[in-house]
Amino acid sequence: MSPADSNPCLDCGACCATFRVSFYWSEAEALGLPTELTEQVNAWFACMRGTQGTQPHCAALVGTVGRAVSCQVYDRRPSPCREVEAGDEQCLKARARHGLPDIF
Ligand code: SF4
Ligand code: SF4
Repeated sequence: MSPADSNPCLDCGACCATFRVSFYWSEAEALGLPTELTEQVNAWFACMRGTQGTQPHCAALVGTVGRAVSCQVYDRRPSPCREVEAGDEQCLKARARHGLPDIF
């Protein structure tokens, strides 16, 4: 992973505390995500625990949003986590929700 000064995600984590992170249940099994970090949404979908509801905060996120964060399951994070890129629309929406400035 890049040093913190070149990777804005390491002192952010806003997207991990803004959206429901849901995916096909089979993806959780395929990735080997710990069951205590996921929850079932319906017969087909699961989500990262803590990301449902009005104030999402993924159970795998360690640290303080906007300061220093890490993901407990970074190498096994599900597809929605891999789709958000620093500086894209979802990123900026999440950062704004947490009072963080735009990047790039
Ligand atoms: S909101 Fe953007 S900068 Fe923050 S962790 Fe997510 S992708 Fe990285
Ligand atoms: S699994 Fe990791 S990358 Fe995905 S939302 Fe949770 S803390 Fe963020």
